[in-house]
Amino acid sequence: MSEAASVYLHVPFCLSKCPYCAFASAAACEGDWEIYLRAASSEMERRAPEAGPLETLYAGGGTPSVLSPGAWGGLIESIEKFFEFSDAPEVTIEANPGSLTKEHLTLWRGWRVNRVSLGVQSLDDGELAALGRLHSASQAAEAALMCLSAGFSVSLDLMFGLPGTPDDLRGWAGTLRRAVALGPHHISVYQLCIEPGTPFGAAYADAPRASDGYVPYRYAQWLLPRLGYEQYEVASFALPGHESAHNLNYWYDGSYIGIGPSAWSCVGGVRSKNASRLRDYAEALAQGHAPTDYAERIEGEAAARQAAVLALRTRRGINWRRFRARYGEAFADAIRKDLENIPGDLASTDEFSASLSKKGLRLGNAIWANII
Ligand code: SF4
Repeated sequence: MSEAASVYLHVPFCLSKCPYCAFASAAACEGDWEIYLRAASSEMERRAPEAGPLETLYAGGGTPSVLSPGAWGGLIESIEKFFEFSDAPEVTIEANPGSLTKEHLTLWRGWRVNRVSLGVQSLDDGELAALGRLHSASQAAEAALMCLSAGFSVSLDLMFGLPGTPDDLRGWAGTLRRAVALGPHHISVYQLCIEPGTPFGAAYADAPRASDGYVPYRYAQWLLPRLGYEQYEVASFALPGHESAHNLNYWYDGSYIGIGPSAWSCVGGVRSKNASRLRDYAEALAQGHAPTDYAERIEGEAAARQAAVLALRTRRGINWRRFRARYGEAFADAIRKDLENIPGDLASTDEFSASLSKKGLRLGNAIWANII
C-alpha cells in the first residue's frame, strides 16, 4: 500500500454555528474537548502505520483556534508521538479572528506550523453581521497582521455572492482590496452556497440572488493577478511560492489520512469518511473499531475521471505522462477526446497536458459534468 504523506486533522468545534454553515461543527459541550483529544490521539495511533514522513499537515474545521493553547499542546504531543515529518513540511492551521490569540501563535510558531489560514469572509462589518460571523472587519485585519508579524505564511478566505448584497461589486471589490492591503501570501475566494437544512437555507432558498457569482468571481480573476496573486486553482490565488501544498496533494490525486469526526481519507484507492457525530466517532475508537461510516474503493474509469476533474481544477491541469502511467492509455485517450470537444477558449489539450483557461475555470462545473 502506498504511504500517505498528508494528514488532515478535523477540529469539530466552533464558538457558535454560522447560519449558512453545513460543515460538521458545533459549539462544544462540557467534556467534549477531552473526548475529542482522547479519540483523535487513538485514531492517530491507529492510522500512523499508513503514513510515511509527512509533507503536509492541515488542521481545519470547525475552528481549530477555538481549542485553547493547552488543548493544542495535547494535540501536538499526539501528532509528534505517532507521525514523522519530512525535512520541510507545510503545516497549516485554520483560525478565526474571533478566537485566535497571541498564545496560539506563539505555541504554533514554536512547533512546526508555518501557515495560518484565516476565515475572514468579508472586510465589511455589515456583511459580517449579515453572515452571522462573530468578528468585525477590524478584528479580522488585526488577526491577519498578528499572523504576518509572527512570521507565518498567511491565507485569507473571502466569500462573495452574499444574499441581499447589491451586484454592483462595490462591497466585494472593497473587501478584496482591503484584504490585499494587509499583505497576505494567499487568498481563497468562495461563493456562498445556500445549503438546505441551514437557517440560510430556510430563509433564502427561493430568494433571488443579487449575484450568480460569475461577475464577482471574474473580478477576482482580473484583480488579484494584477496585484501579484496568480490563480493556481479555481478558488485559490497565491504569491509565488505560497501555493497550498496540502491542497495541491488533493488535486493531484495524492493519498491523505483524515483524523477526527467527519474527516475524509483516501489511501490505497479507498476513500472513506469518519462518523460525523463526536460521540459515535469516539465510541467506535474506544471499542477498537475504525470510526468510519462510509468507504468505497474507486478504480478503473471512475477513478481516472475523478482524478482528471480534480487536476482540471488547477491551472497546470492534467499531465498526460503521469496520468497515463497511473490510469492507462485507454482512459487517458477517452478523457482527452472529451476535452477536445470543449471550445478552445475554455480548455486546451495537447500531447503533454490539458488545462482550463480562466474562462473555463469560471464555467468549471459545466465542463467537469462532461468528464465525470
Ligand atoms: S466558523 Fe466556519 S465551520 Fe464554524 S460554523 Fe462558521 S462557517 Fe461553519
